Amino acid sequence: MTIIRGFRIVASPCCGAQYSFPRYVSMNFMAFEYWTDGWRDGSLMPNDEGLRRCKCGQYILVRDMVAIDTADSSELPYMDHVPDELLPECIAKATSREVEVAARLGYWRYLNHPYRDRYRQHRDAEEAVTKAAWEAANPDRRNWWGKLRGRQAPSYSRPPGSPFTYPAFEASEEQLQNMQSLSEILREWVAASRQGYTMELAELYREQARFDESLQVIQTLDEQEVGVTSNLIMRLINERQSALMRYMM
Ligand SMILES: [Zn+2]
Repeated sequence: MTIIRGFRIVASPCCGAQYSFPRYVSMNFMAFEYWTDGWRDGSLMPNDEGLRRCKCGQYILVRDMVAIDTADSSELPYMDHVPDELLPECIAKATSREVEVAARLGYWRYLNHPYRDRYRQHRDAEEAVTKAAWEAANPDRRNWWGKLRGRQAPSYSRPPGSPFTYPAFEASEEQLQNMQSLSEILREWVAASRQGYTMELAELYREQARFDESLQVIQTLDEQEVGVTSNLIMRLINERQSALMRYMM
């Protein structure tokens, strides 16, 4: 459950404009869908990298805001998320590598959205065929007496080994350019032992079909980062598959 208690008053580092931020006492991390590029669907946690636009026009990161005070209530404005359409402008105007990386990570996931839609439609259609075949093979054979006595109709569960296919993933020129620039910066950061970008870098290489580089990077993951996501990415590297993938936790 997400609980908010009061506000933090903060000032932006660019021009000193003041804003209020809700103080989260606890936050819900649940999501219905996870994707290998780090996108989460159905989550109350925002997917953004803390990128905001100050009223003076400068793009800044939430973590760079200067703490002023806390308050029970506040008339100060919130800082809205940067709309996806503004991300190219933000990349062009970025005043630091950190802002550029946050914007490019957002743009990467945003440009992957059309594929997510195609993937969902494809998977839904294939699962519907699987289910229809199962229902044809498992008809409800209860007679009136069986129904009266409350016998259960056969209930569907996905047969193991059912077909699992997904649409081909072909990154556009725009996607490739962004992924290339982003992976160049992250390669330097990971080489400098900067925490928290290894999985993203491995996935970026994979989506560019640079499987050897992807494999090298994912093998450097810390032990506590190895899990469902990294195992899936590793499997896809070995299959030389560049499509982003949906999974459940
Ligand atoms: Zn400002």
